Amino acid sequence: MAEECAVQVAVDVPLFGTFSYLTHLPLRAGQRVRVPFGPRRVCGFITNDIPTEGIEIGRLKRVEELFDELPPLPATLLAMVRFAADYYHHPIGQTLFTALPGALRTDCAVRLEDERLWQLTGAGLAEEPPARQKARRALWQALQDGPLTNAAVRAVSAQAGRILADWLQEGRAERVPPEPLPLRVAPAPSLNDEQQRALEALSETRDDFAPYVLHGITGSGKTEVYLRLIERVLAAGRQVLLLVPEINLTPQLIERFTGRFPATRVVMLHSHLADGERLKGWVDAWQGRAGIVIGTRLAVFTPLPRLGLIVVDEEHDSSFKQQDGLRYHARDLAVWRARQERVPIVLGSATPSLETMANVAAGRYRRLTLSRRAHDAARLPAIRLVDTRRIKLVEGLAEAVIAALKARVARGEMSLVFINRRGFAPVVACHECGWLSGCPRCSAKLVVHLAERKMRCHHCGWEEAVPHVCPDCGNVDLKPLGQGTQRLEAALARLLPEARLLRIDRDTTRHKAAWDEVYRKVRAGEVDVLVGTQMLAKGHDFGALSLVTVLNADGGLYSADYRAAERLFAQLLQVAGRAGRAEAPGEVLVQTQWPEHPLYQALLRHDFDGYAQTLLEERRMAGFPPAVHQALLRADAYELASATAFLTALRAEAEPHADGVLVSGPAPALMVRLANRERAQLVFESGSRAALHALLERLVPLAERLAKTHGRALRWSLDVDPQEM
Ligand code: ADP
Ligand code: ZN
Ligand code: ZN
Repeated sequence: MAEECAVQVAVDVPLFGTFSYLTHLPLRAGQRVRVPFGPRRVCGFITNDIPTEGIEIGRLKRVEELFDELPPLPATLLAMVRFAADYYHHPIGQTLFTALPGALRTDCAVRLEDERLWQLTGAGLAEEPPARQKARRALWQALQDGPLTNAAVRAVSAQAGRILADWLQEGRAERVPPEPLPLRVAPAPSLNDEQQRALEALSETRDDFAPYVLHGITGSGKTEVYLRLIERVLAAGRQVLLLVPEINLTPQLIERFTGRFPATRVVMLHSHLADGERLKGWVDAWQGRAGIVIGTRLAVFTPLPRLGLIVVDEEHDSSFKQQDGLRYHARDLAVWRARQERVPIVLGSATPSLETMANVAAGRYRRLTLSRRAHDAARLPAIRLVDTRRIKLVEGLAEAVIAALKARVARGEMSLVFINRRGFAPVVACHECGWLSGCPRCSAKLVVHLAERKMRCHHCGWEEAVPHVCPDCGNVDLKPLGQGTQRLEAALARLLPEARLLRIDRDTTRHKAAWDEVYRKVRAGEVDVLVGTQMLAKGHDFGALSLVTVLNADGGLYSADYRAAERLFAQLLQVAGRAGRAEAPGEVLVQTQWPEHPLYQALLRHDFDGYAQTLLEERRMAGFPPAVHQALLRADAYELASATAFLTALRAEAEPHADGVLVSGPAPALMVRLANRERAQLVFESGSRAALHALLERLVPLAERLAKTHGRALRWSLDVDPQEM
C-alpha cells in the first residue's frame, strides 16, 4: 500500500478554506472524490496536497472514493476559480461548484457516452466471415466503408454489439477516436469597408492578450465580423468562446453559427439545459471536440484547451452579472481569462457600458467602430420627441402617438410600443425649475416613499419629509417621476380595436417555444402592434418595424439609481435600432415631459459617444463607478432594525481598517422589503482597487463572526462591483 498523505479538498459549503483528508491514493489537484463531511457524504475536488508533517494525521477522515471517469480539472480552470474566489471574497468550494456543470457536483459517478468509433484491424479485414454467418458478415461488410459509431453498429443488427465485443478481444476490431472534420465555411456576404477594417484590426493579435471593443450600431454587422474572425481562429485549429446574454441565445443566432460552420461542433451552454446535456457539451469543449462554445454567463468557466478567442456580445447587458451566490461578472472574468490564457477578446455592443468606455478612454481597450448599417438600404430611423407637458393624454398616450399607430395599422405595417417599467426608484422633481431631491450628505438622490411622505438616501441613510413646494422656485406641483404603466396595455387594445396586438414580456416568453411562436407570428405578418418591456430592447430582429413608440421613459432620467440614465439611454438606442431595419426607414416617437434633457438631445442625434462622456463626467464628479470601485455588504433580517444593528456594529469594527476607503451607511436597500425580509447595506468606495480589497479581506471574517451574535435570522452577503444598489 502506498504511503498515507493528506490532501486538501474543496467542498460545496459556505465556509472559507478547504478541508484536509487522508488518503493512500496518489491524488492530484483537480480530481473528483467523495468525502465524509459531518454526517453527510459529499462530492469534493482535490485542490492541492500538503505535506503531512505537522498535521495530526490520525484525526483526519479519509477520502472515500475517487471518480476517475474524467481527467483532473485543468489547471487553467482551477486558477480562474481561485481568482474569482479571491476577487469576490467567496468561499473557494462554492466558487468551484458554481463553475461546474451540475452532474459533476453530485457524489456519484457520471456516465459519459463513449465517442470512439469501431473499426476493423488488419487481422479483422483479412478474414471475411463465411456467408452462413449472416450477422457477422453483415457487420463485416458495414465496416468496410469506414469506422462506425455505437449507434451505427446497433443499426446493423441486434447481435452486432456482442460480435464486436468478441472481435475486440480477438484483436479483429479496435476503437479509435473520431477524426476531426476539416473546417467548412458556408458562403457569406462580402464585408463592407468598415467591417473589413475592423476584421483586419481584430486579426492583428494572435496568441496574446488583446482587448478590443467592437462598437457598432444595431444592424451594423457586428455578428458578421465575429463570424469572419471566428473562421480565422477555427482555421488555425483553435477554439472560440462566445458569451451572450440569456435572452439572445435564440435559435436564429445558433442557426447562424451552425449554418456558417457546418462541419464544426458548436456547443451551447446555459442554465436551462438538462444535467446530462450540459455535461456533454462541457466535456466536448474540454476534450477539444467542440470548436465553438456559445453560452450565457456560466459558460465563462468552460475549459477550452485550445482557446484562441473570446467574444462577449452585448457586453453592456446586466445579465452577465450574477445576482446571488457567487456574484461574478462574466464579462470581467472573461477579460481576466483572456489575459491569463493570452488570447484576444472582443467586447461587442451598440451601447458599451461606461466601465468599458472608461477603459477605452484610458487606452486599455482598443475600440473599433461600425457606424453604418450593413444593408446599404437600411437607414437609421428618425427620432422625434413628443412633449407631453401641456397636452391632454388619453390613457397615458398622446394624440399624435395614437394617430401614428393608427396610420401604421391602416397601411399594414408593424409597430412596436415600448413600455419602460423597470423598477426605477422615484425621486421628486420640479418641472418648472428642474430642482431634484438630492441628498444633503452625499451625491445620491433621495427616494420617495409616498406612504410615509418621506424621502430617503439609500446610499448613506439620510431621511427627510417630502416638501410641499419646490425649495428653489416655490412651485406647488411637485410630483414623483415615473408613474405606473399597468393600464397602458389595456388602453391600447381599446384605442386600436382593429389592430392585432402581441404582448411580449417575461411572463409571455418564459419558454423557448414561446419565442419561436413570437417569431412565427411576426414573420407570417400576423401582428400589427408589438407591446413589450425592456426585453424588446435586446438583440431581436423582428424585420421591418415601421414605428417604435416609447412610453414612460422619464423615470430613468432622475432615478435614485445612478445607473438608471445609462441603462435608459442604452435601451432607447437599442429599441430605436429595431426601427427601419430592412428597406423601410423607421420612425421613433418618445413621449416625455423633459424634452430638453441632455439624454433625449443626445438620442435625437444618435450620439452615443457624447452622452457617454457626459455620464462619465457626472460619475467622476459624484464619485460613483467607474470613477471609483465599489462593494456592497448587504444584510437582511425579518426587521430592518436587526439588519441595521448588525451593519452598524460591523461598520464600527471595520472603519479602523478602512484606509483610503469611504464607508457609507447603513442605509435601507432601494427595495427594502423582499420576500418577507427587510434589507439594508453598507457601501464601500475607493479610487484604489487594492485599498478596497484590503479592507474586504478583513471585513469578511468580521462579518462572519458578528453575524453569529445577531440572531439566526440574519443573513449577509458581499457584492463586489455591484450592478444593483
Ligand atoms: P449586428 O450584429 O451589428 O446587429 P448583424 O451582423 O446581425 O448586425 O447584421 C445585420 C444584418 O445585416 C443581418 O441580416 C446580416 O446578415 C446583414 N449583414 C451583415 N453584414 C453584411 C454585409 N457585409 N453585406 C450584406 N449584409 C450584411
Ligand atoms: Zn422648482
Ligand atoms: Zn446620502
